[in-house]
Amino acid sequence: MSAAFIFPPPLSPSVAIAHDARRFPVRRIFCIALNYAAHAREMGKEPAKGGGGEPPVFFAKPADAVVESGATIPYPSLTNDLHHEIELVVALSRGGADIPAGQALDCVFGYAAGIDLTRRDLQTAARNAGRPWDMSKGFDHSAPIGAIRPVAEIGHPACGGISLSVNGVLRQTGDLSDLIWSVPEIIAALSRNVALAPGDLIFTGTPSGVGPLLPGDLVEGEVERVGSVTVSIGK
Ligand code: MN
Repeated sequence: MSAAFIFPPPLSPSVAIAHDARRFPVRRIFCIALNYAAHAREMGKEPAKGGGGEPPVFFAKPADAVVESGATIPYPSLTNDLHHEIELVVALSRGGADIPAGQALDCVFGYAAGIDLTRRDLQTAARNAGRPWDMSKGFDHSAPIGAIRPVAEIGHPACGGISLSVNGVLRQTGDLSDLIWSVPEIIAALSRNVALAPGDLIFTGTPSGVGPLLPGDLVEGEVERVGSVTVSIGK
């Protein structure tokens, strides 16, 4: 007989899958920092060269930070500078440790458009103080994500436009071909830090044009041939 829980364990957070009634259960959410040169420069950083030589910086959000596309989320607490970051999200159905880049794409179930919401003022303050910036990234409702498109449907997009608009005004544009670390390189590097597993999501970084959101804003992101994600900020 299995041990009883003292209260019902929380349901697994999950993400919609395009053209499929089933859902993708989320285990962990990983993110990579500064993966487009133009965004690194707008953050005041020299872009990394990427590739296998230089390790990227990773951070995480809690699995239950996922938000269904189309939802309205509250303007988060403790910030006056909530920023949008449109990103290609990789959804894994296989995992492992020390995955070679040449085998990394075998782990990918599909791709989605996601928004890495950021309390930029908290991140900057933490960074300047040499403190962890978890709470600037891993807050409630900080990971809106659109429906996952399976690899079986769209393959592995290595190029294509990525963009975000706020209230119909274009804010961010880029191309997946500008990723400093490619998806296979990201998976390989991340799997040297931690063992990956089915259900893991990886936000692959944002192009330039990040900026503030205000209560009442409508945020619409798109990744070409992958899909879209929409979220409204509550008033
Ligand atoms: Mn990001």
